[in-house]
Amino acid sequence: MTQVLRLTDLIADGKLSGKRVFIRADLNVPQDDAGHITEDTRIRASLPAIEQALQAGAAVMVTSHLGRPTEGDLKPQDSLAPMATRLAELLGRDVPLIANWVENGVPIAPGQVALLENCRGNKGENKDDDALARKMAALCDIYVNDAFGAAHRAQASTHGMAKYAQLACAGPLLAAELDALGEALGNPKRPLVAIVAGSKVSTKLTILRSLADKVDQLIVGGGIANTFMVAAGLPIGKSLVEADLVNEAKAIIDAAKARGASVPIPTDVVTAKAFSASARAEIKRVEAVQPDDLILDIGPETARALAAQLEKAGTIVWNGPVGVFEFDQFGNGTKTLAEAIARSPAFSIAGGGDTLAAIAKYGIQDQVSYISTGGGAFLEFLEGKKLPAVDVLEQRAAQLA
Ligand code: ADP
Ligand code: MG
Repeated sequence: MTQVLRLTDLIADGKLSGKRVFIRADLNVPQDDAGHITEDTRIRASLPAIEQALQAGAAVMVTSHLGRPTEGDLKPQDSLAPMATRLAELLGRDVPLIANWVENGVPIAPGQVALLENCRGNKGENKDDDALARKMAALCDIYVNDAFGAAHRAQASTHGMAKYAQLACAGPLLAAELDALGEALGNPKRPLVAIVAGSKVSTKLTILRSLADKVDQLIVGGGIANTFMVAAGLPIGKSLVEADLVNEAKAIIDAAKARGASVPIPTDVVTAKAFSASARAEIKRVEAVQPDDLILDIGPETARALAAQLEKAGTIVWNGPVGVFEFDQFGNGTKTLAEAIARSPAFSIAGGGDTLAAIAKYGIQDQVSYISTGGGAFLEFLEGKKLPAVDVLEQRAAQLA
């Protein structure tokens, strides 16, 4: 289990009162062309850290990245101004936005909160520049990282600062992510079943390899399953496939088998003659797939069999829809698995942009034990990589011990 200092521990010890607290949050939310926020989950997820720090009597500064601006040259569309407005609404208090905060400092008093302009505007942020990290660390007494979505990047505000701040800890969102992911992959209740699906093996090869070493069952789906079907000697017509990765797929199947784990291959599929929203769906046995067929979903028999496994699981890790769920006629496989996850008593975690869209589409948000807010960071955690932002917090915690 990850050992990091937590904001909640510092608060319980009364360490925040009168202190300057710097929270690196992830407020990087989608906006429309006019800059209006279209979806604010990440802003809402960032509130507990801010509210807890304020309540504990701290002077609170919050920053985040937004998009990928040019360092030293922030454009109006790179501004966190809409996020300051939304934060003010949600917190029910003023949230001034402060520009040029590294040079000019942050004039706030205990009980106040300010939002610091897009941290990726600072020269040296992306390269984890030491001088910038030291300057930012000097702005505060306590550094709080609550940006799980950026935890896989070693940048000045996610990594360097944590080395130099007097105290460095994880905020409640980051801590919750680490707890949930640690529970699912650190010491999971068995059987541990992972679903790795979506469009391409190449984008998830490391995850497949890493999970093949841990899980009891590795369910492949979507375009990824097609490459595994070729590895199993099955016809896939003109479906999305990565021919150069068939041997990798074989190796993953063998690695799982050698440990007594399995990689179930679909027995039936849903096909179409074209990739389109109006394409007619046909259910067929895998052996009957024609040369001009596109496999766009797992079939009902496969979905039922996998659903039964999910209902018996102790832990479920889900990344990737098993079909082109954006088109309803190819969404039944993903829907059946989503509903099985919802019914299952297993501890379940899910993450990934399209996976979250599928969870929303089938309305099972409240029945998944934990939905990760971190796209890339979630995937890197599944790959078994150390996240730089977490690693540095562990090192700081180890120095205190
Ligand atoms: P996530 O964002 O959750 O990590 P991915 O981006 O890897 O997931 O994959 C999601 C995409 O995969 C979806 O847009 C879906 O339409 C597509 N997909 C799923 N099954 C297939 C398939 N059989 N053929 C082509 N694309 C597929
Ligand atoms: Mg995606």
